[in-house]
Amino acid sequence: MSKFFITEYELVPGGTAYIVGDDARHIKKSLRVKKDDIIKVCDGKGNDYSARVEKLENDAVLVEVAERIDQNGEPKLKVNLFMAVTKGEGFEYAIQKCVEAGAASIQPLITEHTVISIAETKLDKRVERWNKISESAAKQSGRSAIPLVSYPLTMAEALKKPKGAEPSIICYVKEGTLGLKQLLTENPGADTLNVFIGPEGGFSPAEWEIAKRAGLQSVSLGKRILKAETAGFFVTLAAMYEYGELGVKD
Ligand code: SAM
Repeated sequence: MSKFFITEYELVPGGTAYIVGDDARHIKKSLRVKKDDIIKVCDGKGNDYSARVEKLENDAVLVEVAERIDQNGEPKLKVNLFMAVTKGEGFEYAIQKCVEAGAASIQPLITEHTVISIAETKLDKRVERWNKISESAAKQSGRSAIPLVSYPLTMAEALKKPKGAEPSIICYVKEGTLGLKQLLTENPGADTLNVFIGPEGGFSPAEWEIAKRAGLQSVSLGKRILKAETAGFFVTLAAMYEYGELGVKD
């Protein structure tokens, strides 16, 4: 059953909602959905519902929301990525791939060795673009939540973000004391994993110091050095696989 995001309104069983834009055209022209057909809709916050098509208009499809569907595309494990912004298209690919792999959120980082600077005037547009990429990756991969890509923060600011008792790791090439596999197997019941990834030039000694003071566990990803934009995807995949969220039949 095809799934469509409706993020503009709250979805309530028994209520109605409009699907608009490209999705509405796709429903009418490509899928040839008819009145009273049942489709799946999703609020972008992790909730899927079945819905009955009530009316097909020119650029909109009116649906009546029915019951909530339990089975959705969201992993139980929440991987929150704190990733240094890299230049070029690499960071955009990283967002796309991490969302497909199941990441819960992405916090871009501006670190001391970050080589790209985003002008204040262009920041809103850039963050909007990152969130659009997250949204289309979420749609394409059948997710039920659209992972938020936040405004960039420095390491010091990001470390102030409240974190619970869940494992928080910093992928650090020089002083990786614990292998990622070991960390994951030692925390079998974890429902959240916060992961810090540095830029191409790595974290500075000062950033490493404040991360250590904030209690982040230094972790090695193995013998090979991954590009900054690959590392977040790699950790998300490994964690999802370890916790049975990847490569298993639904
Ligand atoms: N020369 C840099 C350094 O010494 O950190 C290499 C940086 S690497 C290209 C970019 C980021 O990816 C690193 O800051 C780290 O967060 C992560 N990373 C890549 N490969 C890693 C590995 N094998 N172990 C731990 N972290 C890794």
